[in-house]
Amino acid sequence: MCWTYHARGVPVKAPPKAIYCARMGDLLLRQGLVDGRRQDVALRDGRIWRIGPALDPTGGETLDVEDKLVLPGFVESHIHPDKAFIADRTRGLAPGGPTPQTLVAELKKTFTVDDIYRRARRVLEVALRHGCTTMRAHVEIDAYVGLRGVEALLRLRAELAGVLDLRLIAFAQEGIFRDGVTQDLLREALKTGLEVLGGCPYMDEDERRHIDWFFDLAEASGVPLDFHADSSDDPSRLTCDYIAEQTIARGLQGRVTLGHLSTLDVLEPEHRARVIDRLREARLHVISLPATELHVKARDDARRTWRGVTRLHELRAAGVNVALSTNNVVNPFTPYGHPDLLRQALVAAMAAHLGNLEQMGWLLELITVNPARAIGLEGYGLAPGCRADLVVLDARDPAQAITEQAEKLFVIKGGRIVARNTRTSELVTRA
Ligand SMILES: [Zn+2]
Repeated sequence: MCWTYHARGVPVKAPPKAIYCARMGDLLLRQGLVDGRRQDVALRDGRIWRIGPALDPTGGETLDVEDKLVLPGFVESHIHPDKAFIADRTRGLAPGGPTPQTLVAELKKTFTVDDIYRRARRVLEVALRHGCTTMRAHVEIDAYVGLRGVEALLRLRAELAGVLDLRLIAFAQEGIFRDGVTQDLLREALKTGLEVLGGCPYMDEDERRHIDWFFDLAEASGVPLDFHADSSDDPSRLTCDYIAEQTIARGLQGRVTLGHLSTLDVLEPEHRARVIDRLREARLHVISLPATELHVKARDDARRTWRGVTRLHELRAAGVNVALSTNNVVNPFTPYGHPDLLRQALVAAMAAHLGNLEQMGWLLELITVNPARAIGLEGYGLAPGCRADLVVLDARDPAQAITEQAEKLFVIKGGRIVARNTRTSELVTRA
């Protein structure tokens, strides 16, 4: 299995062949498991310098990671740090009660820049501790919160540069046709340096008009698109096929991402196969958010408990790029949400019937190479020349890592250790 991702198919240039000779600031990971084999990994100048069975350890720092799984750093591709850690401010979901959207909209009115900053910082730090080296986050922009989230997240992006790469999506959680300010605020947010435009069609009555507006602005601004799409169990409200159509018509293949895609799960098999085909043709990226789906979906259905997790296996088998992400952290959408992508891999394995050995083998791709591809991360992977963003797990293979929720022993960003974790226990087995 190859973990290397090369943006737009252009290989990352490997350094010239040379005898590894360590120097100050170098880091050598000794005898870790890379692609199933014991290898040394030498890091230099923020990049992977060499990978080989026995590199010279003289000079720089050496980490003994013998028989530990070495992976490229986890990539969180869909998360909401601005509305995290607010579950204690509301009653949460209850039968016949308000939706999570309604509950959070009310709370949002009271958010200050400092409040958002403190909660979002906590999300970023916990994510880092759990192996995340790159994050693409949604920032809500609307009449309730204005640009306060943008201000807080831009500050965090600057402060954590070099420790965690943070990319920001200007996101319209409340829709764009329900007030007179959101459209202008979104345009303004792009001017302040947010890299992506995020739509939420199901929040507006005319979903196609919403989608068209986002495509128009994305084309005019030259930014990629990320939609919260198809969150319901009503097949008549399917929008991903229209988004695929627009993506192709406007030549934006590979630059559009869809979060949720829950409706796909309730389509008749033949219809679903046709839609998946269209998604592949449009080179749409799909990000599943299993923890939120399991908490929110099918609450009013007295007959069955629909899981709402999209068809990961079918999408992947058809050649669609699929990823997993955390989405919500301790709020009414997911009160137990936690920015640990290894946990999301376990939730997905349970929710989407992905537990056999072959499936457990590729599940970790959904939190590493696949989201890296979805967000257009360049120089990502485990090969000479790639960025030295790594996580070392206390496990020998992906199945063990997922099953045991292995500790992330080292998190490395740009060749530097940014988190060390240990898990100890003392067993008393004799009376
Ligand atoms: Zn979301």
